[in-house]
Amino acid sequence: MRLRVSLGTAQVLGLRTIRQPHPPTTAYLMWGEKCRRDCAFCAQARGSDSRADLLSRVTWPAFPAEEVLCRLPGSGVRRVCVQVVEPGSPREMVDLVPLVGELAAAGLPVCVSCFLPSLKVAEALLRAGADGVTLPLDAASPQAYERVKGGSFAAALAHLEKAARAFPGRVGTHLIMGVGETEEEMALLIDRLAQLGVRVGLFAFTPVAGTRLAHHPPPSLEGYRRVQAAHCLIGRGLARADEFTFAGGRLTGFGPRFWPARLQAALADGEAFRTTGCPDCNRPYYNERPGQPVPYNYPHPLDPGQAEREVHRLLSSLEASVQGAGCGGGTTGGSGACAGA
Ligand code: SF4
Repeated sequence: MRLRVSLGTAQVLGLRTIRQPHPPTTAYLMWGEKCRRDCAFCAQARGSDSRADLLSRVTWPAFPAEEVLCRLPGSGVRRVCVQVVEPGSPREMVDLVPLVGELAAAGLPVCVSCFLPSLKVAEALLRAGADGVTLPLDAASPQAYERVKGGSFAAALAHLEKAARAFPGRVGTHLIMGVGETEEEMALLIDRLAQLGVRVGLFAFTPVAGTRLAHHPPPSLEGYRRVQAAHCLIGRGLARADEFTFAGGRLTGFGPRFWPARLQAALADGEAFRTTGCPDCNRPYYNERPGQPVPYNYPHPLDPGQAEREVHRLLSSLEASVQGAGCGGGTTGGSGACAGA
């Protein structure tokens, strides 16, 4: 069997030589190819014309599975993430279970990311040694979900919530900002999921050639920072989304308790602006080009200067959001006409 691994992972495992200032701290593996689903943003979607070795903007070369497995121990990675590209038949998913068992035997925590069609498969993966499963919702509102993924958001959310209740503390999801949802919808959903103990990995929409959304713009950095801050405050148990203020769907504040000194203090360590999701997941360059001056998700701890700049960017964008309230807009996908979004 051959496994695709992200190019950054291939370098860390000694399978490819590239220069990367921020190597992945998780080994990212891809299982399967060409998905049975047709998500509009995804290079592996059934209807996409993208290269078969792409996921988001990252290249995934293939190697023999034994070679990947034997290089994991001692490589320095602290987790293994298996991205499952859903096979034509959900029954094929059971073939994944022995691989997860072998990966877990390498002594690293393993998570599996896939919208598992049945909780029985999730249970089998957890029994085989996975420490968590990630069921990606991707889109944060019914309209966005229907447009970019197809099918029922309510059913997908109910399935995720059922998994979270069945396997407490072992379920996560991914949310992509910039596919037509509002910041308000993102914040409310993050809060709802946090109350169920669901880990949320936040991503910024990234246009990929050959997909249906190849020409759709990514979200504004300022809007992404506002949602990252909401995610951090909720995740740390410092605030709830019903305290936040919104105008036209856009976040304008985190409530009177968080303006501005306490907000600055709560976010001063810069952790809010790092990659989120499972422990030790840093996903370098997943949403960003190498050399992009300011990443959506920092793949490393921020130094004090970076943290201060990002908190300042957030505060300025909140002020601009308040001033811009009332000039319409509110979805995070377009550039909009209002200042600061
Ligand atoms: S949060 Fe990171 S490690 Fe966990 S499933 Fe998502 S991409 Fe993989």
